Amino acid sequence: RWVYVNGQFVRHGQAMVHVEDRGYQLADGIYEVWAVFNGALADSEGHFERLWRSLDELRIPHPMSRAALEVVLKEAVRRNRVREGLVYLQVTRGVAKRDHAFPHPSTPPAVVIVARGLDRAATEAKAAGGISVITTPENRWGRCDIKTVGLLPNALAKQAARERGAGEAWFVDDLGLVTEGASSNAWIVDGEGNLRTRDTNANILRGVTRRSVMDLLAKEGLTLQEKPFTPEEAKAAREAFITGAGSLVMPVVAVDGHPVGDGKPGPLATRLRALYIEHAQKSGI
Ligand code: PLP
Repeated sequence: RWVYVNGQFVRHGQAMVHVEDRGYQLADGIYEVWAVFNGALADSEGHFERLWRSLDELRIPHPMSRAALEVVLKEAVRRNRVREGLVYLQVTRGVAKRDHAFPHPSTPPAVVIVARGLDRAATEAKAAGGISVITTPENRWGRCDIKTVGLLPNALAKQAARERGAGEAWFVDDLGLVTEGASSNAWIVDGEGNLRTRDTNANILRGVTRRSVMDLLAKEGLTLQEKPFTPEEAKAAREAFITGAGSLVMPVVAVDGHPVGDGKPGPLATRLRALYIEHAQKSGI
């Protein structure tokens, strides 16, 4: 396996970053993840746009042009012979003597790219059964719209989910409303049959998959309410699901141990998964 580190492809086992990388010491960095379908980056435009936005919000210099980055990302996919999988890109503010304030502006950002294959047949089997989610109090910072590598609350939430046999954890804010998952956006078809997902503000990541699913819904003539919901509404919902580059569209069959609907993947979630995969297979670059 090959990994891209600061201008070079190196063997995965030999890939290293400096001990004073600001990502390592201060979580001063951002990342982006693309799903790979048929060797191409799905929803590439949305992920590139969010990447530049994350960098700009944190005033991290762009490490290279869009065109150059595209070449390197595709090369990472090609070299690792990934047909179906994920590409991970991380950009930190670079290496400098430890100091909370920014280093000299000439410090180059540090770039790492890792591509890995994924067994789509296994994920389809998982999607056919759906996943359970747990809820956990929202304890992240006020800028969850930036895709930073500061993921400790997300890691702890995901571990809590795993220990309870669940596949995702939903954060619940002080108003008792679900914000999003540890690595996904949250959706329900509520008791009245309304499809709902939270509106986007600084409290959640603007999921690229969420955006594409919204476009697919519009094409299907289906309406969506961008309105938050409570865990109780999710338990009483007809359907629930999550979206993300890793999960695509994944049906949720239980919330905190309560079955959602009949406890099986819902028809809309199942249909949206198929539609999204079809879109992802066509939209890749
Ligand atoms: N919310 C969080 C916290 C995430 O980490 C992710 C990443 O997958 C998402 C939502 C979904 O975003 P996207 O659809 O762009 O992958």
